[in-house]
Amino acid sequence: MKVRFWGVRGSIPAPGPETNRYGGNTSCVSVTTSSGGLIIIDMGTGLMHLGNLLLGTEFGKGKGRATILLSHTHWDHIQGLGFFPPVFIGGNNFTVWGPGGSPKVLEDILEGQMDPNFSPLQTLKNLAATVDVRAAVVGESFEAEGARVVASEHPHGMTTALSFRIEDAGKTFVYASDVGYPDGGPSKEAIAHYRGADVLLHDSTYRPDDQATRRNRGFSSYEEACAAAIAAKVGRLVTFHYDQDYTDDDVDGIVAACKEALDPHGIALTPAREGDELEI
Ligand SMILES: [Zn+2]
Repeated sequence: MKVRFWGVRGSIPAPGPETNRYGGNTSCVSVTTSSGGLIIIDMGTGLMHLGNLLLGTEFGKGKGRATILLSHTHWDHIQGLGFFPPVFIGGNNFTVWGPGGSPKVLEDILEGQMDPNFSPLQTLKNLAATVDVRAAVVGESFEAEGARVVASEHPHGMTTALSFRIEDAGKTFVYASDVGYPDGGPSKEAIAHYRGADVLLHDSTYRPDDQATRRNRGFSSYEEACAAAIAAKVGRLVTFHYDQDYTDDDVDGIVAACKEALDPHGIALTPAREGDELEI
């Protein structure tokens, strides 16, 4: 699998000179599977840049297809949809797997952000591409672009979000963003979902001191990300979903602290940075 980061910031886009190195776009990650298929995880503002690149491929000719995995429908995970050029080209085909329990519920939520009060697109029906919306059933695996995917559900503030375990050609990548663990830290179920992954991408929104005052928002500290990686004995941790107010230097501090925590356990570390690619 080839993983590429298109948006790594949490909650709201944060462009500017102080966030240039890690990037200011919100959550979007692409996974190219061993069979050459494309899985897109989350539709934050980073999706726009992936879309522009895809125009030079089959997607530019209306012959592209991809699977989109949606962790949850907070703004920073869906706002890229209306700015993703391949959805305006007839013939392209997208299968969206997400939360909501039924395709109708999820479709209605996505339709809501196209309302004329929020978007000039007015309705999802104005997209030329085919968008097939499906509800992921927690714990039940499904096939996507030649890979096997299993979704798990975790608390995220007042709501929940899905994490995705993707297995392809003997390798495992887990995407777990927007994770608000209870006070005791990562649950047994969460650790089981991450267990033995070659790469665990994990919510690392806060430094512990900031998290302590914002617990109800439902995000992880980098310490919790490291604890999850160590408990699940993963090969590599990817830090992700940095707080919008953190500068590049702040994120450097998070990365250094994670490295110190993970080194004794032989766990590698890759900080997610917009535009970077990771081969699994
Ligand atoms: Zn988020």
